[in-house]
Amino acid sequence: MTYWLSHAWLGTHVEPGVALDVSDGLIAGVRTGVAAPPPGATVLRGLTLPGLANTHSHAFHRALRSTVQVGSGTFWTWRETMYQVASRLTPDSYYDLARAVYAEMALAGITAVGEFHYLHHAPGGTPYDNPNAMGEALIAAAGEAGIRITLLDTAYLSAGFGKRPTQYQQPDRHQLRFSDTTADAWAERASLLKGGDHALIGAAVHSVRAVPAAQLATVAAWAEERQAPLHVHLSEQTAENDACLAAHGRTPTRLLADHGVLGPRTTGIHNTHLTAEDIALLGSSATGTCMCPTTERDLADGIGPAVALQRAGSPLSLGSDSHAVIDLFEEARAMELNERLRTRARGHWTAAALLRAATVDGHAALGRPEAGVIEPGAPADLATVALDSVRTAGPVPRLAAEAVVFAASAADVRHTVVAGRHIVRDGRHAHVEDVPAALASAIAALHR
Ligand SMILES: [Zn+2]
Repeated sequence: MTYWLSHAWLGTHVEPGVALDVSDGLIAGVRTGVAAPPPGATVLRGLTLPGLANTHSHAFHRALRSTVQVGSGTFWTWRETMYQVASRLTPDSYYDLARAVYAEMALAGITAVGEFHYLHHAPGGTPYDNPNAMGEALIAAAGEAGIRITLLDTAYLSAGFGKRPTQYQQPDRHQLRFSDTTADAWAERASLLKGGDHALIGAAVHSVRAVPAAQLATVAAWAEERQAPLHVHLSEQTAENDACLAAHGRTPTRLLADHGVLGPRTTGIHNTHLTAEDIALLGSSATGTCMCPTTERDLADGIGPAVALQRAGSPLSLGSDSHAVIDLFEEARAMELNERLRTRARGHWTAAALLRAATVDGHAALGRPEAGVIEPGAPADLATVALDSVRTAGPVPRLAAEAVVFAASAADVRHTVVAGRHIVRDGRHAHVEDVPAALASAIAALHR
């Protein structure tokens, strides 16, 4: 089949009039200088980007939107509310919620999500009959919503550091659902997960708080054996750094480095409060950095040193994390605009560089280095943004990428194509009939 793109983002520039031949879910050919749609071609009018990668998600946090905007609080009080919602989820209700959330992502031009999944067991910590019932619900939900998923099955074993480096606190009553007790038991369960056409399986260390140092190598080895992505929440909060220094006499980054967790398949999520040595360790090991600016500002985390990390060698990706909003354009420009406020200087990243984080480097962090480009051989994953909405109308087409990155919203996404299949057409989801209604009913069920 053939798609005709009125304008295509080819990584460095906007190309008008591009025909894409698609076969077996891959881009088979890219023809430029095609002024009008060839007969039978499906027309994608607007700026067509490679499909966006949402590198860091906790699908169930979507149920907290607005609930956590009442009053003030901190990251830690926010976490209490998050635990309340988590305590009500079952495999069925999580499937319903995740399907709607992933459909919202499809509507926002997201074609792949990294789901950082730690809600493994029934309340109290009892495994379900199928010990991967929750993870499999997420994989099925992504399939129904038409997007790709990398399920980053997360080891979450303890509540925090103890008094000595070998001591860790037992999970509290909310965290019992997250825990497999030991990294070996985590590995055994995670090994039973199966990927598929739309799903890859990766690993995650929840944080240095949640996996005892002596067990970090077990998780790293599991990922190494499978050449799978390995993600970890890193230094989002200064309290985590302080507790790690008190228990181990080293920063979280140093602790991860000493236990073999860093490397080019690893992505640190947030990487907010780092020392110069941390930045050098992450950069020299080519460990990635996933910035989640809308969550980081929502939770008053601070602004991470993304410029310095990238300069040191850490590739950047973007995630909507807690889903305060699901809008990768907002994440991308927030990274640049935060840096402008901090430095009182403009132009740390070009629109092209921000799109790179939202596409090719994001997909690579999810274990798909071949994705995120409009080139022969790449997956036919596309997101088309209207250039005639109230937000994007005006600029010359040559500046369409700047218009999209700095002014568009997720509501301007007109088409989403995944593996050559037209998932969102003219702003409507092809299989999930009424996405707002699906979100409302799945969330209402959890707040009842
Ligand atoms: Zn997170």
